Amino acid sequence: MSLSFWERQSFQNWDYIVVGGGIVGLSTAISLKEKAPGADILLLERGLLPSGASTKNAGFACFGSLTELVEDIKILGEEGCLALVKRRWAGLQKLRQRVGDAGLGFQQNGGYELVSEGEVKYLPEIPGVNTLLKSFFGIDVFQEDVQLVQKFGFHKSVVKTVIANPLEGQLHTGSMMRNLYQIAAAKKIHVLTGCEVKQHEDLQSHVEVSAFSPGTNTDITFKAKKLAFCTNAFASQYFPEFDIKPGRGLVFVTEPMKQVPFQGTFHMDQGFYYFRNAGDRILLGGGRNLDFDKETTTDFGVNEVILAELKRLLAEVIAPGSSLKIDQQWSGIMAFGKTKEPIVKKVSDNITIGVRLGGMGVAIGTLVGEELAALAGS
Ligand SMILES: Cc1cc2nc3c(=O)[nH]c(=O)nc-3n(C[C@H](O)[C@H](O)[C@H](O)COP(=O)(O)OP(=O)(O)OC[C@H]3O[C@@H](n4cnc5c(N)ncnc54)[C@H](O)[C@@H]3O)c2cc1C
Repeated sequence: MSLSFWERQSFQNWDYIVVGGGIVGLSTAISLKEKAPGADILLLERGLLPSGASTKNAGFACFGSLTELVEDIKILGEEGCLALVKRRWAGLQKLRQRVGDAGLGFQQNGGYELVSEGEVKYLPEIPGVNTLLKSFFGIDVFQEDVQLVQKFGFHKSVVKTVIANPLEGQLHTGSMMRNLYQIAAAKKIHVLTGCEVKQHEDLQSHVEVSAFSPGTNTDITFKAKKLAFCTNAFASQYFPEFDIKPGRGLVFVTEPMKQVPFQGTFHMDQGFYYFRNAGDRILLGGGRNLDFDKETTTDFGVNEVILAELKRLLAEVIAPGSSLKIDQQWSGIMAFGKTKEPIVKKVSDNITIGVRLGGMGVAIGTLVGEELAALAGS
């Protein structure tokens, strides 16, 4: 069934089409509109709700724990690591400015890294990493504080000490995303959800994108001057030439507690495990490293082996003796590559991509959106 005369005039032609309604897609669309308020922008999201990582994550507003940064320095060098930290920080500040701390539910309760036997070797690296970061933040970011093991109630013989970072914050992931959708709506960005892009083509004079329309049982072709793909882990389907590996992450929240014994964001095992207070509950996630093969997938789902380990960590290390029950669990899909730097690139004259956000996309996502908008608009 063909489009009506009216549909062709009002819904088919756009200045920009953005594919993907996660933090990067929304940020790209909003940045495009900030640059060109008169531009007509269509954002297409395959899920009824965003269906990747942006509404599924743990809400850490972070830029890297000590052990993560030490490992990053090995791959990126000191300058490369500092540049990445600066981009994460810039993304967070831009996000806070755009949405506002109230809308984000942002709280700067500090971040902490639990040091077990395996991480003790990283402690002598604190002064060097602090010197590197001081050139940007102006303070010694990481401080070891062994008293925190007892204060927060962690298992004493497993957790040897804690490294504190006062600059880290946390936010309410759902509120962040809902606010971004509302900002997009206020800027008259047209959003279609439940709209999976199946094909796209750069025809030089314009781009065409087709998606299936269940109502009419036909494909609809949308046209635009420029197209931006913000589909993160799902991008390899169209762009197999890029190094993009999906990584599933599992998260759960406990039942409400009378009092959560800590406030803040907590990292363990080079960021493979993480937990925080989420209101009156503990949120805990991670464990992908227990089963890399099965977790290298774009399918949502719960890996029982990982779930069992997360439960054990909660009961034995994080809140020993508390017999807390799990209330809700879910998964989300991230994207990784050999390096932690996102891919922000032009792939043809009229098509750009901003993908592979890794495990700190809440932080860097807004900046990637801004960079992609600049590239798409050029
Ligand atoms: C469990 C978990 C915990 C995390 N915790 C944190 C954290 O605490 N702090 C942090 O900074 N980061 C965290 N992250 C990472 C962060 O959430 C991601 O890096 C970020 O959300 C990526 O945003 P994105 O917009 O690039 O991708 P996504 O949010 O995945 O968005 C891509 C969107 O594209 C859509 N899409 C895909 N294909 C198509 C198509 N063909 N047509 C239309 N739409 C399509 C998808 O449905 C999806 O909504 C976590 C991630 C997970 C999974």
